[in-house]
Amino acid sequence: MIGVSVLGSTGSIGVSTLDVLARHPDRYRVVALTANRDVAGMAAQCRRFRPQLVAMADAQAAADLAREIGDLPGTEVLAGVDGLCAAARHPEADQVMAAIVGAAGLLPTLAAVEQGKRILLANKEALVVAGQLFMDAAHKHGARVLPIDSEHNAVFQCMPADFSRGLPAVGVRRILLTASGGPFRTKSRADLAHVTPEQACNHPNWDMGRKISVDSATMMNKGLEVIEARWLFDASPDRIQVVVHPQSVIHSLVEYADGSVLAQLGNPDMRTPIAHALAWPERIDSGVASLDLFDIARLDFEAPDVQRFPCLALAYQVVQVGGAAPAVLNAANEVAVAAFLDGRIAFTGIAALIQAVLDRLPGGSGDSLDALLSVDAEARALAEQILA
Ligand code: NAD
Ligand code: MG
Repeated sequence: MIGVSVLGSTGSIGVSTLDVLARHPDRYRVVALTANRDVAGMAAQCRRFRPQLVAMADAQAAADLAREIGDLPGTEVLAGVDGLCAAARHPEADQVMAAIVGAAGLLPTLAAVEQGKRILLANKEALVVAGQLFMDAAHKHGARVLPIDSEHNAVFQCMPADFSRGLPAVGVRRILLTASGGPFRTKSRADLAHVTPEQACNHPNWDMGRKISVDSATMMNKGLEVIEARWLFDASPDRIQVVVHPQSVIHSLVEYADGSVLAQLGNPDMRTPIAHALAWPERIDSGVASLDLFDIARLDFEAPDVQRFPCLALAYQVVQVGGAAPAVLNAANEVAVAAFLDGRIAFTGIAALIQAVLDRLPGGSGDSLDALLSVDAEARALAEQILA
């Protein structure tokens, strides 16, 4: 039996992960679950999966959950970041699904890396904030990182097995990251100023959490993914090309020195990359229907428009600067997205706020975890100050 810890189990990726795990009860056992505040959702998951450990980020939520599942024998309830890290380090967890949203996922995910676990990485912000440190730690502790983000999972599937020797050495010329373009792909710049949070969260192809849905709408999601790809595949940013592909059927492509281009296709359902990473190098059923190419009929491609979607350009900018600059971008983006969802700023104010924070806070070297965490806090405080 393979023990699995699911960090962020009540979210979109967490629920899809439990769906795949439940299809293979003879192969996987859920040993730990974590969430932020959703007590009812977590109580239901505890009754169904009987984890040994469950952690809530919020202390009040942990107390409520302990009361709620008091009758369940053998499930320990912990609270706070220490609790999340304990779930990540659980001795019986062979694999850890890192599916907390935002920089809040960094410490628990690193805790799993430091135990040499197999990391199923959905929490792209961890790599954006601390890519170098994260990959160095994975290397040092022998933790294999398998990408869950559909694009990176596709790239991983199209890469040669020995890609860690370096992309030029294995004959890879470029990574082509596909992007749906989000719900506002065809909107004019003027119209973008008036879109609502509900419209932004209504993605044409994917059903996701609210933060990543807004990121998809601004295309910051693709910017974060460029940075994620830079670290996962040790790829220089000029080898990573974003291709808008509205159908979200090709999840990404790898171009080789001889001109061959390999693609991974599938229905837009995160259970495919989740099942791939859980079972790798084997293959298991994910519950995803067969791809019907006759129904899809055509595949379209466009260049991204950075005039309408400046967040993508900002991400390319910070990855060139390096150091703690991506951590500043990520923190400012988290504050900006929350402010947009709360109706405090317009959609177009998201990029403007991030730009304003980057102008005032260059970031510095960010060569230690403490330095990165303090830059993250500083960027959030500055963003809030600009908003006030
Ligand atoms: P979500 O908002 O649906 O779920 C987030 C989970 O994290 C929940 O369980 C929540 O309780 C928990 N959480 C939130 N804040 C927390 C905090 N401060 N401390 C501890 N736990 C906290 O998000 P999601 O859509 O499932 O995305 C999760 C991650 O996966 C994100 O990094 C996202 O970018 C990435 N991702 C998601 C998708 C998708 O299809 N949803 C696709 C690719 C990548
Ligand atoms: Mg993605």
